[in-house]
Amino acid sequence: MSRRALWPLLAVGVLLIAGSGDPAPRPSASASPFSPASAVDSALPAPPSLTPSATPAVAIVPPTTPTTSVATFAAPLDLSRVLVPPGDGALVVIDPGHGGDEIGAAAYGIVEKDSNLEMGRRVERLLTQAGYRVLLTRHDAGRAVGGVDGAGQPRGFSAQRRDLQARIDLANAAGASVFVSLHSNGLNDPSANGVETYYNAARPFSAYNRLLAQSIQSNVIAEMARAGYLVRDRGTLDDACLRAFQGVCFPLFVLGPPRMTTRDEVLRRGGDPAALGFAAGQDAIVSRATQMPGVLAELLFVSNPDDARLLADDSAREALARGVVLGLSRFLAEQSR
Ligand SMILES: [Zn+2]
Repeated sequence: MSRRALWPLLAVGVLLIAGSGDPAPRPSASASPFSPASAVDSALPAPPSLTPSATPAVAIVPPTTPTTSVATFAAPLDLSRVLVPPGDGALVVIDPGHGGDEIGAAAYGIVEKDSNLEMGRRVERLLTQAGYRVLLTRHDAGRAVGGVDGAGQPRGFSAQRRDLQARIDLANAAGASVFVSLHSNGLNDPSANGVETYYNAARPFSAYNRLLAQSIQSNVIAEMARAGYLVRDRGTLDDACLRAFQGVCFPLFVLGPPRMTTRDEVLRRGGDPAALGFAAGQDAIVSRATQMPGVLAELLFVSNPDDARLLADDSAREALARGVVLGLSRFLAEQSR
């Protein structure tokens, strides 16, 4: 959704907060306390695609291209090798947030949809080196779902919902072990900063969602610190009531349970029921949810000048990517024991 007018320092356009795929602004930074895993969650077997592994950790050698941008802090010298638990062919879906006419947050020269895609490629490279199979939900600036009428990328609410559903369907059809959506945050308040990771606590495998979120969050913060970048740790957050509309809570579309969308809601939001698969006379459709643990990581704030500087810095971005990779690979290694 569009946000109201912004401060004049924006280098690029206006600040846009994504629609149904993006968290609502949060006024304060605090990690939500976790409730203990329910007996049901604890009793669940591991997701089917989590396979045991006895292979030693794989050393990741970062690219040797020099950093050309100006870093806030000098990177230390001990980053030449990172030990990543081996993938052994495990399949991971990495979802660069936004695409097409939905650009996400934009400020200080950073456009979120492009930044997310570049980060997705970094994560893909590191995971592939460690023996994982990786599927990106999109490979260019467009949406994950292509045009349907030859007129190029679809636009608006109908397109956004189809776009997010396509990302979920891709992960389910591939039988991925985890689904990790990559974003950066944006707020009208330029002082908001840091990293946070969302999970959904209302799914049958909610305990895994939470563990995956904790693993990615803590490893991103740790890798940034190891590289000399001290960023704010906003913790992990349950997305269950992230956005409220007319008294109803909506979790993030790509993390939440199946969602019913009524014809009235589609029309109210300027969407096209036919484009969303409504048959004639059909009043509602139900989305398909992911069938594997998933999280959405908000890697820094595009709208904060210091965070944006890090998002423009090659070595800081590499540290963020390493954190995501370590977080998800250590989660998978732990589950396979
Ligand atoms: Zn986003």
